Amino acid sequence: MNPRNKNFLIGLVIIVLAIIIMNVMTSKRQVPAEILYSEFLLRAQQGQIEAVSIQGSRISGNYTDGSSFSTYAPKDPNLIPALRKANVNITVQPDSGTPWYMSIFLHWGPFIFIIAIWIFLMRRMQGGGNRLFSLGKSRARRADESDTRNTFADVAGVEEAKEELVEIIDFLKDPSKFRKLGGKIPKGVLMIGPPGTGKTLLAKAVAGEANVPFLIISGSDFVEMFVGVGASRVRDLFEEGRKIAPCILFIDEIDAVGRHRGAGLGSGHDEREQTLNQLLVEMDGFDSTEGVIVIAATNRVDVLDPALLRPGRFDRTVVVPLPDVRGREQILGIHAARVKMADKINFITVAKGTPGFSGADLRNVVNEAALFAARQNKNAVTLEDMEWARDKVMMGPERRSMLMSDEEKRNTAYHEAGHALVGAYLEKADPVHKVTIVPRGQSLGLTSFLPQEEMHTQDRDYLLAKIIVAMGGRAAEELILSQVSTGAANDIQQATKIANKMVTEWGMSEVVGPITLSTGSEHHFLGRDIGIDREYSEDTADIIDMEVHEIVHSSYDKAKAILSEHIDKLHQLAKLLIDQETVEAAEVYALVSPT
Ligand code: ADP
Ligand code: MG
Ligand code: ZN
Repeated sequence: MNPRNKNFLIGLVIIVLAIIIMNVMTSKRQVPAEILYSEFLLRAQQGQIEAVSIQGSRISGNYTDGSSFSTYAPKDPNLIPALRKANVNITVQPDSGTPWYMSIFLHWGPFIFIIAIWIFLMRRMQGGGNRLFSLGKSRARRADESDTRNTFADVAGVEEAKEELVEIIDFLKDPSKFRKLGGKIPKGVLMIGPPGTGKTLLAKAVAGEANVPFLIISGSDFVEMFVGVGASRVRDLFEEGRKIAPCILFIDEIDAVGRHRGAGLGSGHDEREQTLNQLLVEMDGFDSTEGVIVIAATNRVDVLDPALLRPGRFDRTVVVPLPDVRGREQILGIHAARVKMADKINFITVAKGTPGFSGADLRNVVNEAALFAARQNKNAVTLEDMEWARDKVMMGPERRSMLMSDEEKRNTAYHEAGHALVGAYLEKADPVHKVTIVPRGQSLGLTSFLPQEEMHTQDRDYLLAKIIVAMGGRAAEELILSQVSTGAANDIQQATKIANKMVTEWGMSEVVGPITLSTGSEHHFLGRDIGIDREYSEDTADIIDMEVHEIVHSSYDKAKAILSEHIDKLHQLAKLLIDQETVEAAEVYALVSPT
């Protein structure tokens, strides 16, 4: 019987029970006329009573005329003699007339009823099944047999992380080898990295490579409304792990339980604290030679309780960063192998155009591309489909149906042409990739650039070029349309942010010099640090403002100068955009430097 039906049945039984109880308790059995005791005595004296039946203090009987009555009698020693004098037939019955099971039922019924309801509700809350008595079970899923096994070949672009994990795999494959030598094996590995970079996948791959069972549980599974449940689940998880060792216990999103104790607003969270304490106790209590390795993953290492990172617990951290160009190319390759691709697709172009994409984003790109190709009845996915999908993932879906007035279209065309031309003329700027005035997501148009190589440091000129390009849109509007619009809000914000960092973090302003004046770490949703610690005076704040102002303004002038020098090109590019909506890089560069 499935849990739904079971629940339904239980509910039905409870309802029927309830009705019976209510009936029993409230039913008015054919009650004879209730009379006063004094009246009863009087009538007995007058000989009007034929017979009585006495049961404890209750007396019922009938008159000589046949009708019946009942009353309650005090403990009156004169009652029986009086009745006998009046010639009444007397029957005496044992004290209680209700059978024993009935009285138990009457006494305990309501109580049983409440318990039944409680059980019913608990079951509902636990999502059916036999969860009532397994509240404290770990809920870990074994992800080895059913899932297709993952291996390192499924994960790309995280070579360093893989290298760190190889040792763990060796150990899991043959724990006895390590035990003999008495080497210290890390008990816990903490994987840190932005969302979607493949932490979960990597943990599964470790299990797959080592060919050991893999227990996966999410941090949020520990967090329940009942105090103590989380702790008992932790205990259970480790117990289960020991039983099937060697194995991997994988705690995904550990920040849900491992949050800094006493953090956050409001009172402490007892339940979570208990759970975390239990986790620490378990980690301390087992010996990695037992063959259990705990891997945890988080993208919020900043909120983790430092106690978790102490030696003997998660004593090894593996950073899983966003992939670089090479990594993105490989990841695209892995996922593209699962769809039908046109021959000879060079993923490097797509990889270059997707800076900051995570592995999950790239998988999404391949998937969108495949869907797009299928919609067009193609029989293979082409590079164009990939580029289309990239744009969609990066900037949201196209909104071709959005109505733009001709004037709005013209404004957008000049705005985007401004960005593109400034980008094309500035040597230090990233090369232009594509300009479009097809609305997407929140923006009316977009100029995208291709960062040429992965940059780990960015020099001053490059950053300035970025700001100048960002200003290109607004500058073009001002030059041509003699009126500016709100379309540049995003550009201005972005430019100001870069300028601000140049001054306060990167020491790129001569006046301020190389000092960190950053305004402290961000809030991290009030995970730990609350409020901003500003470490400088009002005067310094003024200087920073002035410097940022100076950078942004001179960049704006620079953009305007470039555009007014090439104003004919600006008109040409804007016209091209109005005509064909999207202009590729080649066309832009042909315009800029006709050969
Ligand atoms: P995380 O746990 O870090 O948030 P996941 O492991 O859940 O990320 O990644 C989600 C999906 O994205 C994976 O199942 C995989 O398909 C894809 N993916 C992420 N990173 C990579 C990578 N480095 N190589 C291949 N695929 C990846
Ligand atoms: Mg994950
Ligand atoms: Zn813009």
